[in-house]
Amino acid sequence: MDYAVARRRMVESQIIRRSITDQSVIDALLKTPRHLFVDEGLRPHAYSDASLPIGEKQTISQPYMVAAMTAALGLEGGERILEIGTGSGYQTAVLSHLVSRVYTIERIATLAGRARRVFDQLSLTNVNLKVGDGTVGWKDQAPFDGIIVTAGAPEIPTEFLDQLDVGAPLVVPVGPLDQQILLRLVRTEDGRFSREELMDCRFVPLIGETGWMDNGC
Ligand code: SAH
Repeated sequence: MDYAVARRRMVESQIIRRSITDQSVIDALLKTPRHLFVDEGLRPHAYSDASLPIGEKQTISQPYMVAAMTAALGLEGGERILEIGTGSGYQTAVLSHLVSRVYTIERIATLAGRARRVFDQLSLTNVNLKVGDGTVGWKDQAPFDGIIVTAGAPEIPTEFLDQLDVGAPLVVPVGPLDQQILLRLVRTEDGRFSREELMDCRFVPLIGETGWMDNGC
């Protein structure tokens, strides 16, 4: 199977045709070998229009969702971005081509270990990966130029808002377990947040210390 051809087809039929036109996002998707982020048995499906299992009851997001969330960050280059929920590492790798540094947190050590190996294989040197509970963000590296949460939260996690720089967006799926809305919140100069609803989505849950973000966040 020619993965480069499959990747180009994916970008044309799933991303550009769905009106994602940001050329830097398109280039980053073309550069990122999605098949390396799934098990060997799933590689023939790596460029299909779907999320796929990555073990531990978690999933690699659908390519369109990765593209839409990346575009929602409105990147210009040079940013420091925090990602919660490394999972396979695919979204991390896409971001690494667009910004100066990606800080990413994954709570399941085996997934983090696998993602780290692929980052090494691809020589991605601008990724800081940590195993732990991402619901508290990454305080000693805050504020960030953008935060992306790739797991669903029942409510807007205030901890993430606190770690945003002025003008920086938080892209997060919020809502009940079986259906969320992808939100984009931007910290304004007066310390408030603008809020935009981007699309319906369905993510695996963001799990805090005591369960599904039910610890007051
Ligand atoms: N962007 C990833 C999506 C992975 S699914 C990809 O495309 O591969 C979401 C991930 O969030 C899962 O791996 C899950 O373990 C992780 N996760 C859930 N709650 C978390 C938390 N509190 N802190 C860090 N990671 C978390």
